[in-house]
Amino acid sequence: MEPRRSEVIVLRSLPYGEDDLVVTFFCREGGLLRGFAPHGRKSRKRFGATLSPFAGILLQWSAAKGSLVRMKEAELLDLRAELRTSLPALALAGYGCELVGKILPHEEGSPEIYGLLRAYLDSLCRQGPRIETRMLFELRLLKLCGYEPHLLHCSRCLEGFSGAQARFDASCGGSLCGACAAEGQGMAVSAGTLGSLSRCLATPLEAFEGFRFGPLTLAEGSALLADCVRSHLHGALKSLGFLERVMPQPQGGGSRSNSP
Ligand SMILES: [Zn+2]
Repeated sequence: MEPRRSEVIVLRSLPYGEDDLVVTFFCREGGLLRGFAPHGRKSRKRFGATLSPFAGILLQWSAAKGSLVRMKEAELLDLRAELRTSLPALALAGYGCELVGKILPHEEGSPEIYGLLRAYLDSLCRQGPRIETRMLFELRLLKLCGYEPHLLHCSRCLEGFSGAQARFDASCGGSLCGACAAEGQGMAVSAGTLGSLSRCLATPLEAFEGFRFGPLTLAEGSALLADCVRSHLHGALKSLGFLERVMPQPQGGGSRSNSP
């Protein structure tokens, strides 16, 4: 099998035996892959520090029998060491990488999702941890995976909104008008928040700088996007507990009824 050379982002690295590593990485063309790196913990010549989570690398690899590809050697493009200087930035990076690994509907490569993840990690390095960065990443990832929520119109009757408020229920596909929402269904959301999120979907996928949301959009938008992400995952993300401890979601949005 001819070795391949691909640009990849390391998502996770686990020790295997004395000095090997099993590495989960996201490849621009190959999608989500798991690889076996022989002597990955010790071989400075072949791998150096390249196999750390969040690193961007140029990897030589070949398909092997079974589910693990064989990693031959790697060249470091960007270690993203800045992420390790701030706990919230580290938590956001870990969350983004785990989310990509869990939410993708298929295993093929997606240059757009690869570009989004790379730009998200780079933005955390450059701008530090920001709620806007998490929201933009979630919103764009949902869209690229085919899970874009209905925002400016009712997900049931498809009527556009004219009032100042709507309801939002991710399990129904997004926004609901007053006539279609059951009593207390989902969360209340302002037209302003829905408009802001909708405008964000029209911005370039890899642009994270220059976005500033008001307190209501931050609170409502975060709650709404968390609801969407949850509704498309099977099981909880391990990284979410740590993220919520070091960078809690803004309060004041997404008043939810107590009904099941
Ligand atoms: Zn409706």
